[in-house]
Amino acid sequence: MSEFWSPAVHELTPYVPGEQPRERLIKLNTNENPYPPAPGVETALREFPADHLRLYPDPESRALREALAREFGVEVEQVFVGNGSDEVLALAFQAFFCHGQPLQMPAITYSFYPVYCQLYGIERQALALDDQWRIDLDAFDGNGSGVIFANPNAPTAHGHSQADIARLLRRVTERVVLVDEAYVDFGGESAIPLVADYPNLLVTGTFSKSRSLAGLRLGYALGSRELIEGLERVKDSFNSYPIDSLASALAIASLEDREHFDACRERIITTRERTRQRLAALGFEVLPSQANFVLVRHPEHDAAQLFVGLRERGILVRHFNTEALRDFLRISIGTDDEMDSLIEVFELLCR
Ligand code: PMP
Repeated sequence: MSEFWSPAVHELTPYVPGEQPRERLIKLNTNENPYPPAPGVETALREFPADHLRLYPDPESRALREALAREFGVEVEQVFVGNGSDEVLALAFQAFFCHGQPLQMPAITYSFYPVYCQLYGIERQALALDDQWRIDLDAFDGNGSGVIFANPNAPTAHGHSQADIARLLRRVTERVVLVDEAYVDFGGESAIPLVADYPNLLVTGTFSKSRSLAGLRLGYALGSRELIEGLERVKDSFNSYPIDSLASALAIASLEDREHFDACRERIITTRERTRQRLAALGFEVLPSQANFVLVRHPEHDAAQLFVGLRERGILVRHFNTEALRDFLRISIGTDDEMDSLIEVFELLCR
């Protein structure tokens, strides 16, 4: 505590990201992609002229935004980019959710949202999930400063259809509805086509998961020109050069390789389903998943002990033990070999 801090910082429970261990562990704790990025990314990295780093990057990140606009079939003015979707989300909270009313979000969702609420002095209305651990979209009425949820949700991994989200958007028209699609490429259904019809819909996405570029820190938002202009206003006050030239070049190279992208996510989906079956066979309750992770618990084995047992044998997963989410493990989908090792250790621990 310090008297120099703003009051909101005193109150703040900072977001603690998953551990990035120094030793070589099988790392299944932060939902990174186990496969390398598209080969074109490495080529672009090797060929990038170091002399370009002498100059400031394009403050509008035009080339990257154009590439994203082509990818998603929107106008370039409907695309916003930032340093990871975490930064895009922070700017969106400031641009859209500071109306002096509570922000509606699921009671269990990405734990960064409550941190931003605390930081920006936004009250939170947490809405319970249904008995299948799904977000109850009908509970959102838009009578607050806005609506935010992840689709598929984290860490519960369930995704709603585009039709479900359209139904919500027909009801909530006065405030921004932010759909965080960090995990949508692993079997979810994107809300991006709805952007054309709903000026209050903002969809965020990231290069960290399905594009294997978490280290690059690149995220984006798609929405009406009106919403993108709101984000630009806030951004310009903080950081007029959001994306560095090298990151832009590498992200564009990633977008150019559709084949690698599709093959990589298919592989992860296949491994996920295989892993789910094997975990279920070991007695785990395994939630359905449309993401690159699974949420599980064992009726007979304490999650904290399983976490420690895995860690001792070189495997890192994420342990959740909150009031809303008791005794769960979230396991990122790695390579087939990594998942084989995980199952072997569980076979030992769950005997
Ligand atoms: N949204 C959700 C739901 C996430 O789980 C994450 C990753 N922790 C992010 C956004 C942020 O991803 P990034 O900043 O790497 O784009």
